[in-house]
Amino acid sequence: MKSFTKKDIRSLSLEDLRCFFTENKVQAFRGNQVYQWLWQKGIHSFEGMTNLSKSNRALLQEHFVINHIDIDHQQKSNDGTIKNAVKLYDNLVVESVLIPTATRTTACVSSQVGCSLDCKFCATAKIKRMRNLNADEIYDQVVAIDRQSRLYFDRPLSNIVFMGMGEPLMNYKNLINAIEKITQKDGLGMSPSRITVSTSGIPKIIMKMADDQVRFGLAVSLHSARQNVRAKLMPFAEKFPLNDLADAIKYWYDKTEKIVTYEYVVWKGINDSDEDINALLNFCKISPCKVNLIEYNPIGDHQFMQAEKNIIKAYEKALEAQRITVTVRRSRGKDIDAACGQLANKDMLV
Ligand code: SAH
Repeated sequence: MKSFTKKDIRSLSLEDLRCFFTENKVQAFRGNQVYQWLWQKGIHSFEGMTNLSKSNRALLQEHFVINHIDIDHQQKSNDGTIKNAVKLYDNLVVESVLIPTATRTTACVSSQVGCSLDCKFCATAKIKRMRNLNADEIYDQVVAIDRQSRLYFDRPLSNIVFMGMGEPLMNYKNLINAIEKITQKDGLGMSPSRITVSTSGIPKIIMKMADDQVRFGLAVSLHSARQNVRAKLMPFAEKFPLNDLADAIKYWYDKTEKIVTYEYVVWKGINDSDEDINALLNFCKISPCKVNLIEYNPIGDHQFMQAEKNIIKAYEKALEAQRITVTVRRSRGKDIDAACGQLANKDMLV
Protein backbone atom coordinates (compact mmCIF):
# COMPACT_ATOMS: atom_id res chain seq x y z
CA MET A 1 0.00 0.00 0.00
CA LYS A 2 1.20 3.49 -0.74
CA SER A 3 1.75 5.74 2.20
CA PHE A 4 2.07 9.49 2.32
CA THR A 5 3.92 9.52 5.65
CA LYS A 6 6.93 7.39 4.78
CA LYS A 7 9.45 9.00 2.49
CA ASP A 8 9.61 8.05 -1.18
CA ILE A 9 12.93 6.25 -1.49
CA ARG A 10 13.30 7.47 -5.05
CA SER A 11 13.74 11.03 -3.87
CA LEU A 12 17.09 9.96 -2.34
CA SER A 13 20.36 10.38 -4.19
CA LEU A 14 22.95 7.61 -4.31
CA GLU A 15 24.86 9.42 -1.57
CA ASP A 16 21.70 9.68 0.58
CA LEU A 17 21.14 5.92 0.23
CA ARG A 18 24.72 5.12 1.21
CA CYS A 19 24.38 7.41 4.26
CA PHE A 20 21.10 5.79 5.24
CA PHE A 21 22.78 2.41 5.43
CA THR A 22 25.85 3.60 7.32
CA GLU A 23 23.62 5.42 9.82
CA ASN A 24 21.88 2.09 10.34
CA LYS A 25 25.20 0.26 10.74
CA VAL A 26 25.05 -1.49 7.38
CA GLN A 27 27.82 -1.28 4.77
CA ALA A 28 27.42 1.71 2.46
CA PHE A 29 27.64 -0.34 -0.75
CA ARG A 30 24.14 -1.68 -0.01
CA GLY A 31 23.08 1.83 -1.04
CA ASN A 32 24.59 1.24 -4.47
CA GLN A 33 22.69 -2.02 -4.80
CA VAL A 34 19.41 -0.36 -3.91
CA TYR A 35 20.16 2.47 -6.34
CA GLN A 36 20.64 -0.07 -9.12
CA TRP A 37 17.40 -1.86 -8.30
CA LEU A 38 15.55 1.42 -8.38
CA TRP A 39 17.08 3.06 -11.40
CA GLN A 40 18.67 0.39 -13.57
CA LYS A 41 16.27 -2.47 -13.02
CA GLY A 42 13.20 -0.33 -12.34
CA ILE A 43 11.91 -2.53 -9.53
CA HIS A 44 8.85 -1.41 -7.56
CA SER A 45 9.03 -3.54 -4.41
CA PHE A 46 11.60 -4.05 -1.65
CA GLU A 47 10.97 -7.81 -1.67
CA GLY A 48 12.29 -7.93 -5.23
CA MET A 49 15.74 -6.65 -4.13
CA THR A 50 17.07 -10.17 -3.91
CA ASN A 51 20.72 -9.43 -3.17
CA LEU A 52 19.71 -7.71 0.10
CA SER A 53 19.18 -9.67 3.30
CA LYS A 54 15.68 -10.01 4.73
CA SER A 55 16.56 -7.67 7.57
CA ASN A 56 17.85 -4.99 5.21
CA ARG A 57 14.71 -5.25 3.13
CA ALA A 58 12.65 -4.89 6.29
CA LEU A 59 14.71 -1.85 7.28
CA LEU A 60 13.85 -0.20 3.97
CA GLN A 61 10.21 -1.18 4.28
CA GLU A 62 10.07 0.42 7.70
CA HIS A 63 11.36 3.78 6.46
CA PHE A 64 10.33 4.16 2.84
CA VAL A 65 7.78 3.59 0.13
CA ILE A 66 8.50 3.23 -3.58
CA ASN A 67 6.12 5.55 -5.37
CA HIS A 68 5.74 4.72 -9.02
CA ILE A 69 3.57 5.33 -12.02
CA ASP A 70 1.05 2.91 -13.50
CA ILE A 71 -0.09 2.81 -17.07
CA ASP A 72 -3.81 3.17 -16.69
CA HIS A 73 -4.74 2.55 -20.29
CA GLN A 74 -3.29 2.64 -23.79
CA GLN A 75 -4.60 3.70 -27.17
CA LYS A 76 -3.05 2.57 -30.43
CA SER A 77 -3.11 4.67 -33.56
CA ASN A 78 -3.37 3.29 -37.11
CA ASP A 79 0.19 4.51 -37.69
CA GLY A 80 1.60 2.52 -34.74
CA THR A 81 1.75 5.40 -32.27
CA ILE A 82 0.77 4.38 -28.73
CA LYS A 83 -0.65 6.89 -26.27
CA ASN A 84 -0.48 6.00 -22.59
CA ALA A 85 -2.55 7.48 -19.81
CA VAL A 86 -0.14 7.38 -16.90
CA LYS A 87 -1.52 7.38 -13.37
CA LEU A 88 0.68 9.00 -10.73
CA TYR A 89 0.87 8.03 -7.04
CA ASP A 90 -1.72 10.68 -6.16
CA ASN A 91 -4.10 9.54 -8.91
CA LEU A 92 -3.43 12.48 -11.22
CA VAL A 93 -2.92 11.49 -14.84
CA VAL A 94 -0.46 12.57 -17.53
CA GLU A 95 0.05 11.26 -21.03
CA SER A 96 3.15 9.85 -22.70
CA VAL A 97 3.46 8.66 -26.25
CA LEU A 98 5.54 6.10 -28.13
CA ILE A 99 6.13 7.13 -31.73
CA PRO A 100 7.61 4.44 -34.00
CA THR A 101 9.05 5.15 -37.45
CA ALA A 102 11.11 2.95 -39.76
CA THR A 103 14.36 4.03 -38.15
CA ARG A 104 13.45 5.32 -34.68
CA THR A 105 11.24 4.80 -31.71
CA THR A 106 10.70 8.02 -29.85
CA ALA A 107 9.19 8.64 -26.43
CA CYS A 108 7.26 11.87 -26.03
CA VAL A 109 7.32 12.56 -22.32
CA SER A 110 5.37 14.88 -20.00
CA SER A 111 7.01 17.13 -17.42
CA GLN A 112 4.02 18.65 -15.59
CA VAL A 113 0.42 17.75 -14.85
CA GLY A 114 -1.32 20.33 -17.01
CA CYS A 115 0.57 23.47 -17.98
CA SER A 116 0.89 26.96 -16.54
CA LEU A 117 1.37 28.54 -19.95
CA ASP A 118 -1.51 29.60 -22.08
CA CYS A 119 -0.66 28.86 -25.71
CA LYS A 120 -3.93 29.43 -27.51
CA PHE A 121 -3.49 26.54 -29.93
CA CYS A 122 -2.55 23.83 -27.42
CA ALA A 123 -4.98 21.43 -25.76
CA THR A 124 -2.81 20.96 -22.64
CA ALA A 125 -3.09 24.70 -21.93
CA LYS A 126 -6.77 24.17 -21.21
CA ILE A 127 -5.89 22.21 -18.06
CA LYS A 128 -4.43 24.37 -15.34
CA ARG A 129 -1.06 23.29 -14.00
CA MET A 130 -1.70 21.02 -11.05
CA ARG A 131 1.84 20.14 -10.15
CA ASN A 132 5.30 19.42 -11.44
CA LEU A 133 6.28 15.82 -12.05
CA ASN A 134 9.02 14.43 -9.79
CA ALA A 135 12.22 13.29 -11.41
CA ASP A 136 11.25 9.66 -10.95
CA GLU A 137 7.86 10.21 -12.57
CA ILE A 138 9.59 11.64 -15.61
CA TYR A 139 12.10 8.80 -15.61
CA ASP A 140 9.40 6.13 -15.17
CA GLN A 141 7.61 7.28 -18.32
CA VAL A 142 10.81 6.66 -20.28
CA VAL A 143 11.29 3.21 -18.73
CA ALA A 144 7.66 2.28 -19.46
CA ILE A 145 7.90 3.41 -23.07
CA ASP A 146 11.24 1.67 -23.54
CA ARG A 147 9.53 -1.57 -22.42
CA GLN A 148 6.71 -0.98 -24.89
CA SER A 149 9.18 -0.31 -27.66
CA ARG A 150 10.91 -3.65 -26.97
CA LEU A 151 7.60 -5.47 -26.67
CA TYR A 152 5.83 -4.12 -29.74
CA PHE A 153 8.68 -3.17 -32.05
CA ASP A 154 11.46 -5.44 -30.89
CA ARG A 155 13.96 -2.63 -30.34
CA PRO A 156 14.88 -0.28 -27.52
CA LEU A 157 13.82 3.31 -27.42
CA SER A 158 16.09 5.41 -29.62
CA ASN A 159 15.03 9.00 -28.83
CA ILE A 160 13.26 11.06 -26.20
CA VAL A 161 11.49 14.34 -26.73
CA PHE A 162 10.15 16.47 -23.90
CA MET A 163 7.14 17.55 -25.91
CA GLY A 164 4.39 16.01 -23.83
CA MET A 165 2.28 17.84 -21.29
CA GLY A 166 3.78 20.82 -19.52
CA GLU A 167 6.68 23.23 -19.85
CA PRO A 168 9.88 21.34 -18.99
CA LEU A 169 11.86 24.48 -18.16
CA MET A 170 9.30 25.38 -15.50
CA ASN A 171 10.31 22.13 -13.80
CA TYR A 172 14.01 22.44 -14.46
CA LYS A 173 15.51 20.73 -11.42
CA ASN A 174 13.43 17.58 -11.76
CA LEU A 175 13.96 17.56 -15.52
CA ILE A 176 17.72 17.63 -15.08
CA ASN A 177 17.65 14.94 -12.37
CA ALA A 178 15.54 12.70 -14.58
CA ILE A 179 17.81 13.18 -17.59
CA GLU A 180 20.80 12.39 -15.41
CA LYS A 181 19.27 9.03 -14.51
CA ILE A 182 18.25 8.37 -18.10
CA THR A 183 21.79 8.97 -19.31
CA GLN A 184 23.83 7.54 -16.39
CA LYS A 185 25.48 4.15 -16.73
CA ASP A 186 23.72 3.07 -13.52
CA GLY A 187 20.45 4.23 -15.06
CA LEU A 188 19.28 3.66 -18.65
CA GLY A 189 22.59 4.64 -20.23
CA MET A 190 21.05 6.59 -23.12
CA SER A 191 23.10 9.14 -25.01
CA PRO A 192 22.11 12.76 -24.23
CA SER A 193 22.42 13.54 -27.93
CA ARG A 194 19.25 11.48 -28.43
CA ILE A 195 17.25 13.67 -26.08
CA THR A 196 15.53 16.93 -27.03
CA VAL A 197 13.93 19.34 -24.61
CA SER A 198 11.27 21.54 -26.13
CA THR A 199 10.44 24.86 -24.54
CA SER A 200 8.06 27.65 -25.27
CA GLY A 201 11.10 29.87 -24.69
CA ILE A 202 12.05 30.98 -21.19
CA PRO A 203 15.18 33.07 -21.71
CA LYS A 204 16.63 32.89 -18.19
CA ILE A 205 16.48 29.11 -18.06
CA ILE A 206 17.85 28.67 -21.57
CA MET A 207 20.86 30.66 -20.35
CA LYS A 208 21.08 28.56 -17.22
CA MET A 209 21.07 25.41 -19.37
CA ALA A 210 23.95 26.85 -21.34
CA ASP A 211 25.83 27.63 -18.13
CA ASP A 212 25.14 24.11 -16.89
CA GLN A 213 26.65 22.78 -20.13
CA VAL A 214 23.80 20.35 -20.68
CA ARG A 215 24.43 17.81 -23.42
CA PHE A 216 20.91 17.33 -24.78
CA GLY A 217 19.32 19.20 -27.66
CA LEU A 218 17.18 22.33 -27.43
CA ALA A 219 14.00 23.00 -29.40
CA VAL A 220 12.14 26.30 -29.10
CA SER A 221 8.46 26.63 -29.99
CA LEU A 222 8.71 29.83 -31.97
CA HIS A 223 5.57 29.91 -34.18
CA SER A 224 6.16 33.55 -35.00
CA ALA A 225 9.19 35.81 -35.12
CA ARG A 226 6.99 38.90 -34.79
CA GLN A 227 6.55 39.97 -31.18
CA ASN A 228 2.92 41.12 -31.46
CA VAL A 229 1.83 37.99 -33.36
CA ARG A 230 3.69 35.67 -31.02
CA ALA A 231 2.30 37.36 -27.91
CA LYS A 232 -1.24 36.78 -29.21
CA LEU A 233 -0.54 33.10 -29.83
CA MET A 234 1.44 32.59 -26.64
CA PRO A 235 0.42 35.33 -24.17
CA PHE A 236 3.26 34.58 -21.73
CA ALA A 237 5.54 35.95 -24.49
CA GLU A 238 4.57 39.45 -23.31
CA LYS A 239 6.72 38.70 -20.26
CA PHE A 240 9.45 36.94 -22.23
CA PRO A 241 9.73 39.00 -25.42
CA LEU A 242 11.48 37.86 -28.58
CA ASN A 243 14.45 40.15 -27.99
CA ASP A 244 15.23 38.40 -24.71
CA LEU A 245 14.65 35.02 -26.32
CA ALA A 246 17.04 35.94 -29.12
CA ASP A 247 19.73 36.97 -26.60
CA ALA A 248 19.28 33.69 -24.72
CA ILE A 249 19.56 31.62 -27.89
CA LYS A 250 22.70 33.46 -28.92
CA TYR A 251 24.14 32.81 -25.46
CA TRP A 252 23.14 29.13 -25.73
CA TYR A 253 24.97 28.73 -29.02
CA ASP A 254 28.06 30.63 -27.91
CA LYS A 255 28.38 28.45 -24.82
CA THR A 256 27.33 25.05 -26.19
CA GLU A 257 27.88 25.28 -29.96
CA LYS A 258 24.62 23.39 -30.29
CA ILE A 259 22.22 24.18 -33.08
CA VAL A 260 18.76 25.13 -31.86
CA THR A 261 15.63 23.76 -33.54
CA TYR A 262 12.63 26.03 -34.01
CA GLU A 263 9.18 24.50 -34.01
CA TYR A 264 6.80 26.43 -36.15
CA VAL A 265 3.20 25.91 -37.18
CA VAL A 266 1.87 28.01 -40.07
CA TRP A 267 -1.73 29.10 -39.58
CA LYS A 268 -4.10 30.64 -42.06
CA GLY A 269 -4.46 34.38 -41.57
CA ILE A 270 -2.09 34.43 -38.59
CA ASN A 271 1.49 33.91 -39.73
CA ASP A 272 1.13 33.18 -43.45
CA SER A 273 2.31 36.49 -44.99
CA ASP A 274 5.63 37.45 -46.57
CA GLU A 275 6.25 39.65 -43.54
CA ASP A 276 6.00 36.57 -41.32
CA ILE A 277 8.43 34.65 -43.52
CA ASN A 278 10.92 37.52 -43.56
CA ALA A 279 10.72 37.92 -39.80
CA LEU A 280 11.57 34.23 -39.39
CA LEU A 281 14.51 34.49 -41.81
CA ASN A 282 15.80 37.40 -39.76
CA PHE A 283 15.37 35.58 -36.48
CA CYS A 284 17.28 32.61 -37.90
CA LYS A 285 20.35 34.84 -38.25
CA ILE A 286 20.85 34.86 -34.47
CA SER A 287 22.61 31.50 -34.43
CA PRO A 288 22.85 28.35 -36.54
CA CYS A 289 19.46 26.65 -36.46
CA LYS A 290 17.04 24.20 -38.00
CA VAL A 291 13.35 24.79 -38.57
CA ASN A 292 10.64 22.16 -38.15
CA LEU A 293 7.44 23.20 -39.83
CA ILE A 294 4.89 21.21 -37.85
CA GLU A 295 1.46 20.31 -39.08
CA TYR A 296 -1.32 21.88 -37.02
CA ASN A 297 -3.28 19.38 -34.98
CA PRO A 298 -6.78 20.67 -34.43
CA ILE A 299 -7.90 20.85 -30.82
CA GLY A 300 -11.56 21.18 -31.54
CA ASP A 301 -12.21 24.88 -31.14
CA HIS A 302 -12.07 25.93 -34.82
CA GLN A 303 -10.09 29.06 -33.99
CA PHE A 304 -7.00 27.96 -35.92
CA MET A 305 -6.57 26.47 -39.37
CA GLN A 306 -3.48 25.09 -41.01
CA ALA A 307 -2.19 27.41 -43.78
CA GLU A 308 -2.45 26.42 -47.45
CA LYS A 309 0.18 24.06 -48.84
CA ASN A 310 1.65 26.74 -51.11
CA ILE A 311 2.38 28.96 -48.10
CA ILE A 312 4.20 26.16 -46.32
CA LYS A 313 6.13 25.57 -49.54
CA ALA A 314 7.01 29.29 -49.61
CA TYR A 315 8.39 29.06 -46.05
CA GLU A 316 10.37 25.98 -47.02
CA LYS A 317 11.85 27.61 -50.13
CA ALA A 318 12.74 30.85 -48.38
CA LEU A 319 14.54 28.99 -45.58
CA GLU A 320 16.37 26.71 -48.00
CA ALA A 321 17.50 29.73 -49.99
CA GLN A 322 19.26 30.90 -46.80
CA ARG A 323 20.75 27.41 -46.38
CA ILE A 324 18.71 26.74 -43.28
CA THR A 325 17.75 23.11 -42.78
CA VAL A 326 14.00 22.82 -42.84
CA THR A 327 11.78 19.78 -42.34
CA VAL A 328 8.07 19.58 -42.83
CA ARG A 329 6.71 17.29 -40.14
CA ARG A 330 3.63 15.21 -40.66
CA SER A 331 1.89 14.46 -37.40
CA ARG A 332 1.60 11.01 -35.96
CA GLY A 333 -1.07 9.58 -33.72
CA LYS A 334 -3.62 12.19 -34.73
CA ASP A 335 -6.52 9.71 -34.77
CA ILE A 336 -6.04 9.08 -31.03
CA ASP A 337 -5.29 12.71 -30.03
CA ALA A 338 -1.67 11.81 -29.39
CA ALA A 339 -0.08 14.39 -31.70
CA CYS A 340 1.72 17.60 -30.63
CA GLY A 341 -0.56 19.83 -28.61
CA GLN A 342 -3.37 17.29 -28.39
CA LEU A 343 -2.39 15.79 -25.04
CA ALA A 344 -5.09 16.84 -22.63
CA ASN A 345 -6.30 13.77 -20.81
CA LYS A 346 -9.91 14.27 -21.74
CA ASP A 347 -11.18 13.29 -18.27
CA MET A 348 -9.55 16.41 -16.85
CA LEU A 349 -11.35 18.73 -19.25
CA VAL A 350 -14.67 19.37 -17.59
N1 SAH B 1 5.84 23.38 -23.46
C1 SAH B 1 6.77 22.87 -24.40
C2 SAH B 1 6.56 21.42 -24.80
C3 SAH B 1 5.15 20.94 -25.05
S1 SAH B 1 4.37 21.25 -26.58
C4 SAH B 1 6.82 23.77 -25.62
O1 SAH B 1 6.03 24.69 -25.69
O2 SAH B 1 7.69 23.56 -26.47
C5 SAH B 1 5.26 20.45 -27.84
C6 SAH B 1 5.15 21.16 -29.18
O3 SAH B 1 3.83 21.08 -29.73
C7 SAH B 1 5.45 22.65 -29.10
O4 SAH B 1 6.25 23.03 -30.17
C8 SAH B 1 4.07 23.28 -29.24
O5 SAH B 1 4.14 24.60 -29.67
C9 SAH B 1 3.44 22.34 -30.22
N2 SAH B 1 1.97 22.39 -30.27
C10 SAH B 1 1.13 22.72 -29.27
N3 SAH B 1 -0.14 22.63 -29.70
C11 SAH B 1 -0.09 22.24 -31.00
C12 SAH B 1 -1.09 21.93 -31.97
N4 SAH B 1 -2.38 22.01 -31.69
N5 SAH B 1 -0.68 21.53 -33.20
C13 SAH B 1 0.64 21.41 -33.48
N6 SAH B 1 1.61 21.68 -32.60
C14 SAH B 1 1.25 22.08 -31.37
